[in-house]
Amino acid sequence: MINYEPPFLPYGRQNITEDDILAVTEVLRSNWITQGPVLPAFEQAIAAKVSVQYAIGVNSATSALHIACLALGLGPGDYLWTTPITFVASANCGRYCGAEVDFVDIDISTGLMSIPCLEHKLEIAESVGKLPKVIVPVHLAGSSCDMEAISSLSKRYGFSILEDASHAIGGTYKKQKVGSCRNSSITVFSFHPVKIITTGEGGMATTNIPELSDYMRDIRNHGIVRDKKRFHYEEAGPWGYEQQNLGFNYRITDLQAALGLSQLKQLEYIVDERNRLLENYRKLLINLPMELLSIPEDVRTAGHLAVVRFLSASRQKHKQIFQLMRSANIGVQLHYSPVHLQPYYRNRGFNVGDFPVSETYSSSVISLPLFPGLTEEDQKRVVAELENALLKSL
Ligand SMILES: *Cc1c(COP(=O)(O)O)cnc(C)c1O
Repeated sequence: MINYEPPFLPYGRQNITEDDILAVTEVLRSNWITQGPVLPAFEQAIAAKVSVQYAIGVNSATSALHIACLALGLGPGDYLWTTPITFVASANCGRYCGAEVDFVDIDISTGLMSIPCLEHKLEIAESVGKLPKVIVPVHLAGSSCDMEAISSLSKRYGFSILEDASHAIGGTYKKQKVGSCRNSSITVFSFHPVKIITTGEGGMATTNIPELSDYMRDIRNHGIVRDKKRFHYEEAGPWGYEQQNLGFNYRITDLQAALGLSQLKQLEYIVDERNRLLENYRKLLINLPMELLSIPEDVRTAGHLAVVRFLSASRQKHKQIFQLMRSANIGVQLHYSPVHLQPYYRNRGFNVGDFPVSETYSSSVISLPLFPGLTEEDQKRVVAELENALLKSL
């Protein structure tokens, strides 16, 4: 067990206020602690916040990715493409549906899916008749991918876009809110405690397409439909409901929704703070041989992670620096180890060298602590320890 007491600094943590606690206890005292009025209120609040028609709350972003892939018709014989530099869930959702997963290499300076690599891979895939059905761009560290470029490719090659915005609620792309689905079919958010806002565990899918919304809403709850107008058969009795599809229990509770609804009030503050802290790091790191991830033009990042990339460090030095930081009570983390090199994906045929930029990236980045409440002294301590680690590892 890691001791999370000071002086330990985790890379990320939740920011729970007294108002949040009150909001949850209010639900505990009410008549509904699971499927009551708070989830619809939370869904509407998110939809309004990110300027989208529909929002479907579920118990995790992983569940949201799964029902989104099903809604997009992904199945055996299909391909889902994502980036190797993401959490495994962005790829696994394709496997849940029986589809094959493949990856597109990244841009080293942003860590995001590379558009030239995507274009190149699509050309090849078209020539061999293996075009993807769904592409999952991941807004790593809270910064949106180039969605207009991906959207224009989707029109040419006929794939659907599922944005994994687990890191990116509160961010914008060309002044449009991440989650507005201007350039995609569905966007997914995570409300895990290390993310921007939290519900404990939880996730949300957003879309502007009513059929996708209805389908996801049904299958998050076993595929059950209660609206008589949508019944396939005449109702047997006043107790009736129909199971029309094979769904799951991916429901999120009103307790969690109350936390989320309350947390949402802090979204602007949290994103501003994260951007301010990132800017501080940028200044503090100015003389060190490392760089924070670049944020693309026209993007306001949600500032989920402070990822720094060593400009001259070898693989060995990277590991050493990581260990030295951990022993100095700085909870650095790696975002991410390339997904294609996880044993599960190696067993499916992927290998070292398949996505070289992602592999180089992974052996040269670490995430520094970043969360509202991190002080100037904390940040100076992190950077001083980083300097120490660099010297010691020479
Ligand atoms: C956290 C995360 C997920 C999964 O989120 P859960 O809510 O924990 O299921 C998916 N994709 C990315 C990029 C993530 O960071």
